[in-house]
Parts: sequence; C-alpha cells; structure tokens
Amino acid sequence: MPSAIRIAEAVVDELLKQARADSGRECCGLLGGTEGLISRAYPAANASPNPATSYEIAPTDLFRLMREIRVAGLSLLGIYHSHPNGMNEPSRNDLQRATYPDAAYFIISPSDTAPRPVRAFSIHDGIATEVEILRW
Ligand SMILES: [Zn+2]
Repeated sequence: MPSAIRIAEAVVDELLKQARADSGRECCGLLGGTEGLISRAYPAANASPNPATSYEIAPTDLFRLMREIRVAGLSLLGIYHSHPNGMNEPSRNDLQRATYPDAAYFIISPSDTAPRPVRAFSIHDGIATEVEILRW
C-alpha cells in the first residue's frame, strides 16, 4: 500500500454527503478505481446489528459490488465507512476486521467541525498507518 492515494473530488463529496445523510448510522461501501486513482464509490447497506457504532457489508452485497467494480474495468482500491460519533480513526473493531491489506480504509466524519472529515488508513495485522489523501 503506497503512502498516498488519489481520489476524485466528486467521490470525496459523495462520501461526505452519504455520511451526513443518516447521522445515526454508519454508512459504508467500496471504492473502485485504476492506477491508484479512486474514481467511483459503491455504496452498500450497513448490515451490522449495531449500525450506530459498527458496519458490516453483507456477503451478497460484497460479491455483487466486487463484480460491478470488475465489470466497469476497475479494481477495489478502498473501503469506506463513517463514524457518526467520535473521531474518524479506526476503532478496535475496524482494526480486527480489516481483511484487505491492499485497500485503503477511508473513515468519514459527518461533523462540520472535524479537522479532517475524510481520512484513510492502511491496516496490516491489526495496525493502522495513515495514508495521505490527494484530491484529484
Ligand atoms: Zn469504524
């Protein structure tokens, strides 16, 4: 995982919009792109039994979205979710459940006062390293 990832400005706007649309639940989804540039968001339903504090993408959704990404000629470059409450840093759950070491984990804060409402992390073996976001 490189130390920086590029993401289209329109996708950043879309993630913030989704995070703010339902501030009581975590939103989540996949990010597709090519050559290190994220060009599209693929929203998923949050299937977690505790959607206010965690997220889960149902396997059927995951397979469908992965297929959509492939069909569009893109690769999975990231996975995003929001933290409606608290800081947009990986939670213990996020660290334990991160299973894609090559994907950037984006965490969005819907708060207007968040210093950095969109952050990205690379997670390996339960340890997160922040990835710089380059808006494109
Ligand atoms: Zn989280």
